[in-house]
Amino acid sequence: MLTSIRQRDNCKVHAQEVDKFDAPFTCPKCGCETILRQGSVKVHHFAHKPPVFCEYGQGESEAHRICKQSIYDELKDAPNVTLCELEKDFGTVVADVFFMFSGVKVAIEVQISNLTMTRIIERTEEYDELGIYVLWLSVFDSKLDEKKYAPKQWEKWLHATYFGRVYYWLEELEIIPIHFDEYLLWVESTDYGGGYYRKSKRYRTPTEGSILNLLSDFKFREQKGGTFGNMYVPSCKILIDNTDAWWK
Ligand SMILES: [Zn+2]
Repeated sequence: MLTSIRQRDNCKVHAQEVDKFDAPFTCPKCGCETILRQGSVKVHHFAHKPPVFCEYGQGESEAHRICKQSIYDELKDAPNVTLCELEKDFGTVVADVFFMFSGVKVAIEVQISNLTMTRIIERTEEYDELGIYVLWLSVFDSKLDEKKYAPKQWEKWLHATYFGRVYYWLEELEIIPIHFDEYLLWVESTDYGGGYYRKSKRYRTPTEGSILNLLSDFKFREQKGGTFGNMYVPSCKILIDNTDAWWK
């Protein structure tokens, strides 16, 4: 986690802005003590003091922290952006980055790979109830440059939710959208048949769109929800890029 409560004045502070003389700190979720970690290489952050009984901040990787901190740093002074907050607690859900864009509430969620499908859907529904538009992001992985890629379940879910796109964070406010095309497998010809291509169930071919800017290349959209293939998508509010489908 990148923020904690400074006990002295009960203020929410960023790991980047305080030092060890500001201690003690506590977790905003469970109230237990947290420890400030400020190395020379890693993004400054907080960790629960062991033993840890709280789920909040667990499983957060360095890539996640870099992504969150960078998006927050870029957004906080951007035009038309107000109330920008890192790790904004709404009680039922904590947004990695929350902000108002031209008066519309937006949540950026970057840790989808850590969550179960049930939690992803619950969180999406919670944001909808709060009237917040959500953008789920994952950190880009070079495996996506290959022709053959096995999307995880959450990537398939995002693909259904975002009308055929999954968004990957590159740096600052740069995001690359990827569409997953069919991946065809050759079925060898034998006496019993074959000699044709069939769609792979496991693999897809990632098709990259143009790099997008989080503020200038997205619009707000209502996803009515439904079941697509075997994916259940709740009715929700999403941020989606305003470019035409690039894979057709
Ligand atoms: Zn905690």
